[in-house]
Amino acid sequence: MKNYLSILQEIREEVLPLLGRGKVASYIPALENVDSRRFGMALVTLDGEAFVIGDADERFSIQSISKVFTLALAFAKLGEDLWKRVGLEPSGNPFNSLLQLEYEKGIPRNPFINAGAMVITDVLISNFDHPKAAILDFVRQLSGIDDVYYDYDIARSERETGFVNAALANYLKSLGNIENNVETVLDVYCHQCAIKMSCRELAQSFLFLANHGIIPSGNTRILTTSQAKRLNAIMLTCGFYDQAGEFAFRVGMPGKSGVGGGIVAVIPGELAIAVWSPELNEHGNSLAGIKALELFTTKTGRSIF
Ligand code: GLU
Repeated sequence: MKNYLSILQEIREEVLPLLGRGKVASYIPALENVDSRRFGMALVTLDGEAFVIGDADERFSIQSISKVFTLALAFAKLGEDLWKRVGLEPSGNPFNSLLQLEYEKGIPRNPFINAGAMVITDVLISNFDHPKAAILDFVRQLSGIDDVYYDYDIARSERETGFVNAALANYLKSLGNIENNVETVLDVYCHQCAIKMSCRELAQSFLFLANHGIIPSGNTRILTTSQAKRLNAIMLTCGFYDQAGEFAFRVGMPGKSGVGGGIVAVIPGELAIAVWSPELNEHGNSLAGIKALELFTTKTGRSIF
């Protein structure tokens, strides 16, 4: 088994000069209350080894990384019927584009842009009596950590200022692609984005996607092999806003980022890796995080290609 620790340490040294060059997300006011110079990385392997550096055990707002969890839960419940309500193509547009939703008549381009994620949230509300509890239970099951919680201040801050998301949800509702009350959808959506987790917990919780849909520790199947392949394919093509092509090109792993500065990626059959650095680039992806993952695949010679 490879000892990844020294590689992670090297990567940290190389990316530290990038800190100070990006911008912490501020359009959700509570997200700004973070030390912008934090940096952590965690790598976990299918056989249970973990390698961590820096602030890998500090929790942060996972934001859009939550879209992978809600998609997995909805996909497990609804199967292929899900794709009647949301598409499978990269958007090539900002993640909250109203224009694209209007062109495409209320069928969001993919489940990782905000409109698509809200349709998935709506599916969960229709299928679970207590959707917020169901989402937390699912994340706890995947990570094996019982005390994963919502950050209620961040959820409230987003709910109070998320006018574009409210517009997207109302537009979806007007075209019949939201079944439930719009306020309920926005409430659950803002909470799922406000889950707090560390790099170590996130890497752990993505291992089932590196293991054909099965959580390796308990041998519990979450998705079929085919569904896990499909979810990984969506992460590769749509997981990084309008920088998904460049991430595939430079890094070569399926993954998902969030505006809290976290990124999680997997190499199926091997490992999951998470990185956190709150400052973002112009696409909304962690500036140092992208570089760290690029260095990881370059230095190890590992990727999915
Ligand atoms: N809660 C954020 C929003 O809806 C998530 C954005 C992200 O991480 O991409 O704007």
